[in-house]
Amino acid sequence: MESLFSEEELKQEICRVMSALYKRGLVSALGGNVSARIPNSEEFWITPSGVFKGELNPDDLVKLDLECNVVDGLLRPSIEAPVHAAIYKARPDVNAIVHAHNPFTLGLALAGLPIEPITVEEVMVLRKVEVVPFAFPGTDKLAKLVAETAAKGYRALILQNHGIIAMGSNLVEAEAVAETLEEVAIAQFVCYALGKKPPLIPEREVELYRKLYRF
Ligand code: 13P
Ligand code: ZN
Repeated sequence: MESLFSEEELKQEICRVMSALYKRGLVSALGGNVSARIPNSEEFWITPSGVFKGELNPDDLVKLDLECNVVDGLLRPSIEAPVHAAIYKARPDVNAIVHAHNPFTLGLALAGLPIEPITVEEVMVLRKVEVVPFAFPGTDKLAKLVAETAAKGYRALILQNHGIIAMGSNLVEAEAVAETLEEVAIAQFVCYALGKKPPLIPEREVELYRKLYRF
């Protein structure tokens, strides 16, 4: 992978994204995790487990290989490291992963409402959003379910009764997917709360975008 970031800059960027998610209310103090693949390697940096996520330092991060062995770092890695590793194995195009607990996105999924093509951003940034059935956080079962679904090429997944997974070719892309998911969920929620069904972007327009941008 071509990278504009050194490993140290990658670590700083992971901390920045984690802090931004916290400030936006997409994770609570101990929730969520972020990782990035180290360019041209079988390793990734990930946020630590069970510590305050709003103000991480690069030294707090943990380097793992794709079997989740610790290569570097002092703290305990995120319990969702198996999910991150399984996605990196299944998706060579994914170099960064955000796991957050987007409240509106989760609320819509709990109500059984799908994320719909209501904005151009939804179509372009999120593409198609799939729901992964419930499995307990930190389990191999969750990693397997997520990897199976991610292998189909999605960028945004909803983890039923839990949160979201956003994937990107870099950290900003994964961050944008997580944020766009919540923006779209809020817009849909407002519309439904006002008793209206949102008008959707016509299917043929969506198809046109898909053909144009090959997704
Ligand atoms: P970690 O602190 O271990 O990353 O766990 C947070 C979380 O969101 C688990 O799903
Ligand atoms: Zn979680």
